[in-house]
Amino acid sequence: MRLSRYFLPVLKETPADATIASHRYMLRAGMMKQNSAGIYTWLPLGFKVLKKIEAIVREEQNKAGAVEMLMPTIQSADLWRETGRYEAYGPEMLRITDRSDREMLYGPTNEDMITDVFRSFVKSYKDLPQLLYHIQWKFRDERRPRFGVMRGREFLMKDAYSFDLSQEDSVRNYNRMFVAYLNTYARLGLKAVPMRADTGPIGGDLSHEFLILAETGESEVFCHKDLVEMAPPGNIDYDGDLQSIVNSRTSLYAATDEMHDANAFANVPKDKQLSARGIEVGHIFYFGDKYSKPMGATVMGPDGKDVPIMMGSYGIGVSRLVGGIIEAHHDADGIIWPKSVAPFGVGIINLKTGDDLTDTACDDLYRRLSIMGADPLYDDKADRGGVKFGRMDLIGLPFQVIVGPRGLKNGVVEVKNRSTGARQEMSIDATIEMLSAEFAE
Ligand code: ATP
Ligand code: MG
Repeated sequence: MRLSRYFLPVLKETPADATIASHRYMLRAGMMKQNSAGIYTWLPLGFKVLKKIEAIVREEQNKAGAVEMLMPTIQSADLWRETGRYEAYGPEMLRITDRSDREMLYGPTNEDMITDVFRSFVKSYKDLPQLLYHIQWKFRDERRPRFGVMRGREFLMKDAYSFDLSQEDSVRNYNRMFVAYLNTYARLGLKAVPMRADTGPIGGDLSHEFLILAETGESEVFCHKDLVEMAPPGNIDYDGDLQSIVNSRTSLYAATDEMHDANAFANVPKDKQLSARGIEVGHIFYFGDKYSKPMGATVMGPDGKDVPIMMGSYGIGVSRLVGGIIEAHHDADGIIWPKSVAPFGVGIINLKTGDDLTDTACDDLYRRLSIMGADPLYDDKADRGGVKFGRMDLIGLPFQVIVGPRGLKNGVVEVKNRSTGARQEMSIDATIEMLSAEFAE
């Protein structure tokens, strides 16, 4: 992409109400624009990152055996009356009436609707288990929308739902999601820690939240230090033994403040005790027949008798992750994207647009990096060098190739690694070779 043809409305000033780094940088880097409280337009740069995160979430869901579908954002109040949640949900639910005075709502979550879909089609135990998910916008009329996309009112969530005959089978699906989450966050460049959690309005008895540690997190967390550094399971058989992987995490102490047990925490060796703040980027629940029972979602069991379905639900805050990743990866100059979600792989900075030599060298780099799949963003604008450097650091692409007439006279360009800050002069051919190794995976 040539910057001169892109839409990147970078801001010079930091908007006053943006108090945390991710909110500030997302606004300044032209990733999003606020439309009203907690509701944002995703501008091209932000949208590209959101889509990359979504794609990784999807791939890992699919690997774990979850099946993608899509439910609507607008739901009928009737389903929520069946489970008693229409009254119970409170002011966070955006209630609407259509032209025929039918009560509708903008879905804050989808347990009720998926249970209705399930009961419409699945009648026999032979059609179990099922593990379904979608990636869809949610609306929650949060009391205090803040921190940009971290606590929005409209936000993108991946939500999966499992249906099983027994609690034991359900735990198998729960473990699938548990392990898939570990792999998902690792690919996003995050150290996310599973913590015992309260089940809240969704209800149920087994639940974990996944948190990334950050000073600006809204939750207080207590955990065993080793948990933070554990390697993700990686490529594993999701039909194999997942319990040992789950146990290796859950045997180490970790809890959010609601579930925190000070006595148990005291048993963690002093030098391994970590109390910090965290951002919730995912939440998984096992809740048995909480919804299937009131909604009459039963199947015929092996003995011919109707049995209620055991369910779980599994959320990931896809849009919150955009902010969460920035909280984990930034410095005073801007964002430092992990390669897996960077909006572009390499930035090319032309220090003298209009100069034949630099233009030709940049065009050549741009063409070769594009073919390589490094997805370059070429700053071909006429701005001063300082403006270009600042902008490129702000948007945080993993690599920058800086091209000026002085270097070119010696046959070199400068390559900067945004994360380490290391700069190296090298020929264009060597640059291509180095970056092609970087983008080989
Ligand atoms: P929180 O405690 O942060 O309000 P929650 O427990 O109500 O979140 P869940 O119902 O567990 O949220 O939703 C699944 C995931 O969706 C959360 O882990 C979080 O990452 C994301 N999420 C929830 N609310 C918001 C929001 N207002 N804005 C952005 N993401 C959200
Ligand atoms: Mg939650």
